[in-house]
Amino acid sequence: MNHPLELTVMMYHYVRDPGDDAEAGSGIPGLPVKVFESQLDELSKRHTFVTWPDVRRALQEDKPLPGSACLLTFDDGVRDHYVNVFRILRERGLSGLFFVMDRDGHAGFVLAHKIHFLLAKLGVAGLRNAIWEKLNIPQRERFTEAENKYQLKYSPVSPDGQINLLKAILQRDLSNEVDALLSDLFELHVGSENETARNYYLNSEQIREMAAGGMHFGGHSRNHPWFDWIDAEARASEIKASAEWLGQFESQPWAFAYPYGGLAEDAPRLLKERGFVAAFTTREQLLHPDPYYIGRLDGEELALEGQSND
Ligand SMILES: [Zn+2]
Repeated sequence: MNHPLELTVMMYHYVRDPGDDAEAGSGIPGLPVKVFESQLDELSKRHTFVTWPDVRRALQEDKPLPGSACLLTFDDGVRDHYVNVFRILRERGLSGLFFVMDRDGHAGFVLAHKIHFLLAKLGVAGLRNAIWEKLNIPQRERFTEAENKYQLKYSPVSPDGQINLLKAILQRDLSNEVDALLSDLFELHVGSENETARNYYLNSEQIREMAAGGMHFGGHSRNHPWFDWIDAEARASEIKASAEWLGQFESQPWAFAYPYGGLAEDAPRLLKERGFVAAFTTREQLLHPDPYYIGRLDGEELALEGQSND
């Protein structure tokens, strides 16, 4: 690639309405379907939508993209993408790039999603207390230490700050300790983790149907860890799992999205070794000099900004 890639990449997670087939009574909020559709209307006025193969060719063959190109991406392989997004994109003749975890042989949830369910059921203070009660003294010390550290970044004064603070502690410093504990809390407050997860993530059949309908798939690791929090060996194995999984659905070379947008210096090399030619971050950026750090705009944040301007 001789020039920096000029590309607007939209990033979406949950696209759902309360009580619909994707939300399924979980209480987990997402971008409302109507808001997603009106964002597509707005984007189509200013941009030319491109597909992952278009972007791949731009990177590999230096074949330029159209002006004001826009790529739609969707993280985490959740059911929303089959029941809501796929239908809408197909109606409009558009394609999306879906970053899906390899969950083969893992019946339950990744930690991040257990937290979503439990936050919806218990609230942030309730979840914090439920976890705190189960920790032993050394674990409580590590919890408090992490809490003090993240308070510099996430202000505990706002509700969002409290949620991000608790998430950071659980997803990073205490991730090994609380993974099983969160599964216990899930069974207690939500229901069967395995059964819920089976309906929550896209299954192979849905992925094949989406691929046949013009959608594309990229890697998003197996366990969804922060890449700066695990060691090089674990990063290599997460990337390998993605490559092996993607082989079933999408032709090489592939795209990858860093879980939580977490970065590690060796990740581009590890990705390259396994057949990935691009990787997407969560940094807001429209010009991308490095194909392994392609920035994205969060559709959900844009929707909130739009609301507050009204
Ligand atoms: Zn993710």
